[in-house]
Amino acid sequence: MCGIFGIAGHPEAVGMTYLGLYAQQHRGQEGCGIVSSDGGRLHAYRAMGYVRDVFSEERLRGLRGQVAIGHTRYSTAGGSVACNIQPLVAGCGYGPTAIGHNGNLTNFLTLRKELEAGGAIFQSSSDTEVILHLIAQPKAPNILEALVEALKQIQGAYSLVLLNGSTLIGARDPYGFRPLCLGLLNGSYVLASETCAFDLVGAKYVREIEPGEIVQIQGSNIVSTRVLEAPRLARCIFEEVYFARPDSLVFGRTGQVSREMFGRILAQESPVEADIVVPVPDSGVPAALGFSRESGIPFALALIRNHYVGRTFIEPEAGIRNFGVKVKLNPVRELLAGKRVVLVDDSIVRATTIPKIVRMVRDAGATEVHVRISYPPFRFSCEFGIDTPTQKELIASSKSVEEIRKHINADSLAFLSADGLFRDRKQQEFCTRCCTGEYPILSE
Ligand code: AMP
Repeated sequence: MCGIFGIAGHPEAVGMTYLGLYAQQHRGQEGCGIVSSDGGRLHAYRAMGYVRDVFSEERLRGLRGQVAIGHTRYSTAGGSVACNIQPLVAGCGYGPTAIGHNGNLTNFLTLRKELEAGGAIFQSSSDTEVILHLIAQPKAPNILEALVEALKQIQGAYSLVLLNGSTLIGARDPYGFRPLCLGLLNGSYVLASETCAFDLVGAKYVREIEPGEIVQIQGSNIVSTRVLEAPRLARCIFEEVYFARPDSLVFGRTGQVSREMFGRILAQESPVEADIVVPVPDSGVPAALGFSRESGIPFALALIRNHYVGRTFIEPEAGIRNFGVKVKLNPVRELLAGKRVVLVDDSIVRATTIPKIVRMVRDAGATEVHVRISYPPFRFSCEFGIDTPTQKELIASSKSVEEIRKHINADSLAFLSADGLFRDRKQQEFCTRCCTGEYPILSE
């Protein structure tokens, strides 16, 4: 869970990076940073907090140069501390280099131990620093080849932006776990996790960086290399279901369109007699629209969200999370009173929020509450970059659908099936670890 951005050869590279991060704030809210290059020196500013709070006009003015990368961070590996905020910067044989990473390396600890045994000194606990160390080992004639050698040693999920001299580099792991897109802004190439960043800066979407592809960008020149191979693709299906912004193109299809379709399929698979379809805002809105259109049951925005509260789940402290549900949502009693309600959300993870919402809807006068979830039961923790609780805390890892229904006190409960989720997609091109348990990385 992180957002990355990069731009090369643009007079307002830093301002554009700021906007690119602003659009991708949902991908990480703990900290953020921008590193720019004036060709010789790198200029960096990183801090804990939201993009809007971390960067003032003055701070942005202090970052000079026509090439820049940026990062919004949510910690999945390494703690929630300032030294882990990215982009990370290091001096190495190829000159000052900065890196921003979205994803999670699965062999990070082994590599770190090996590097430490060889005398490497680490400044952070983030898995990204391992990549920097591997790049810095003086074996290759240039940074691109050094990066290729480094990437051959790492395993897991990564989409990367790197800055070295006036060169911007983008790379995506060969399984394609996390997104990375290429855009064009007045002749300057732009990289971003999500296309919503292109929309804000006014860049045109060109294409996805292919799984296993490395692009080296200097001004309006782009050179693509494909040397990393994987036996299969493993795009994260949860990006499409929940994580990416619905206005972004996710693996070639707009999130909103996919999510509405998941809601339609859910209505076909698990119909119910009811009076209104109510989304859990905001994550359940697209699927609820789809459910309502397919079933003909009217859509009602009967839960109103306070937009000044962050996503409840994202707060690391359990106390804050529990408190957040009440702060975040309030029912519209007039719409709910006396109604049989279909309550739609995108996923049940720990099931801390949904029982409270069912309760809230009943207290507001609903006569029946039927819960529909547009994702299969979430049974396994993610090792590839989505922040999820341990398997023990995932309700579906130990409880059946009927047991979960009782736990959340719903009149009925249904989840979208894996077949439904992949009705018009090839399931084997996606990572479904969290719902099917299938481990996507195949050993050679
Ligand atoms: P829970 O109460 O743990 O079942 O949380 C489920 C809610 O959190 C759903 O409404 C999801 O939209 C949202 N959610 C699911 N996964 C994540 C995640 N990894 N990070 C933040 N929110 C999430």
